[in-house]
Amino acid sequence: MTPAQALQKYYGYSEFRHKQEEIIRQVLNGGDAMVLMPTGGGKSLCYQLPAVLLDGLTIVISPLIALMKDQVDALNVTGIPAAYLNSTQSSGEQQAIISRLKNNEIKLLYLAPERLFKTGNRLTEFLQSLKVSLIAIDEAHCISHWGHDFRPEYLMLAGLKDAFPAIPVIALTATADQLTRKDILEKLALHNPAQFVSSFNRANITYTVTPKKNSLNQLLAFLDQHKDDSGIIYCLSRQSTEDLAAQLKKEGFLAEAYHAGLSNDIKARNQEAFLRDEVRIIVATIAFGMGINKSNVRWVVHMDLPKNIEGYYQETGRAGRDGLPSDALLFYSPGDAFKLQNFARIEGNEDQSRIMLRKLDDMVKFCQLTTCRRKYLLNYFNESFPDTCGSCDVCLSDYQKFDGTLIAQKALSAVARLKESFGSGYVIDILRGSNNSKLRPEHKQLKTYGIGADLSKADWQRYLRELITLGYLKVSDGAYPVLMLTNKSEAVLKGQQTVELTLSQTTEEEHHEALPH
Ligand code: ADP
Ligand code: ZN
Repeated sequence: MTPAQALQKYYGYSEFRHKQEEIIRQVLNGGDAMVLMPTGGGKSLCYQLPAVLLDGLTIVISPLIALMKDQVDALNVTGIPAAYLNSTQSSGEQQAIISRLKNNEIKLLYLAPERLFKTGNRLTEFLQSLKVSLIAIDEAHCISHWGHDFRPEYLMLAGLKDAFPAIPVIALTATADQLTRKDILEKLALHNPAQFVSSFNRANITYTVTPKKNSLNQLLAFLDQHKDDSGIIYCLSRQSTEDLAAQLKKEGFLAEAYHAGLSNDIKARNQEAFLRDEVRIIVATIAFGMGINKSNVRWVVHMDLPKNIEGYYQETGRAGRDGLPSDALLFYSPGDAFKLQNFARIEGNEDQSRIMLRKLDDMVKFCQLTTCRRKYLLNYFNESFPDTCGSCDVCLSDYQKFDGTLIAQKALSAVARLKESFGSGYVIDILRGSNNSKLRPEHKQLKTYGIGADLSKADWQRYLRELITLGYLKVSDGAYPVLMLTNKSEAVLKGQQTVELTLSQTTEEEHHEALPH
């Protein structure tokens, strides 16, 4: 059977999506692979279909015991024999599965990582005695501290290639920036992995960020336009999910709360009611959503600032899996940014805090954009995109543009004279001729020192950001980001290229929202 025939036979689909076919070929040829595909893109098929086509067993590592049953049930319904082993089963049930495995009656076995590598358990040895043809690692970003959903038990998977040296591994995730991707590859010790990155653009989602003022009224106005639609509201704290759900109920909405502090019964009940459309609105912490496959979520609202772009993008990605137009609305307040900054400073070790702060800063920048939000999001995931999308609040609004060539030239020449070795804060200090004692004396002699004193710090921050978005500047990778020139910079410096910038609409609010670096 060819992959295309199996796709038709088991799933009833006539065409592959994204890079599914290439991925499946790589795996069938025995190679390792890393797959990045947006939520709802069709990752499962990338290992399920090879599992059917290959002789022997495919092991699937998945973080959520609660979801294994659903996935396994769905496979069995399509005629693919699958099972899971986890702590919720009696030893009798587990024994029955072990015998079926011995008889080669199972094609896919779902396991949590700790189950595979628990010390003193004989499961690993038993599995080594079977013909295992593929190992799939779902939600692979959980292995990385830099991902937004680190799970310590995933670190055990670092031993995978030692335990199963000759078996191809496919790692899959819907969310991983460059740093996280690198970390996944290193920790899993994949051999020469082929990387498959699908476009992350969710063209049917409209992104909007609104200053948070009286968020309950703002929310009610939004809900007014989405009366019969299903949606998810994310809040930072458990308490606020409960408070907001209660308020919405009072307003007559079918709303329930969801957070990790609720009992399993209540969580399951609320989640199922949402899936069955008996509850329209789930008010949740980020604990809600991983693996939830509800296709007709029409909107996602963030009442509070998310901690990073990865989380935000994954949460908003739960809207519109059916491809129909959907909304993502975020209420932004600088106060939230400060609160999260303080959390980031005390959580984890110094390295982690620094990275968390940087990610938070990227999230804040997203909220302050005067350029296309979709472009920013996709650029964040290393994907290029045209300057405008036509379907985010910035593209839909009419920000005034002006000829910013001179501003761009000042900024780029400051970066050049600082030898592309300093961050934006330092560059701005030079441009504005600041007396900051941290500035090196020789830099105060530069021709560019003080040439941008006519603009405020906040304006410079905004313009530098816009120049980055437009590709005239870039930020280095690594823990200490510095501003650097790009291949588009020279034409601007030589006056061969004009630059359009967005007229600043500096408000009082924005003056004290700039994050210190
Ligand atoms: P992910 O794990 O990437 O979030 P899933 O594997 O759950 O996504 O797939 C999302 C949905 O898309 C599922 O309903 C799946 O059956 C469907 N799907 C996957 N591949 C295809 C395809 N080639 N054609 C049509 N539908 C597909
Ligand atoms: Zn846009």
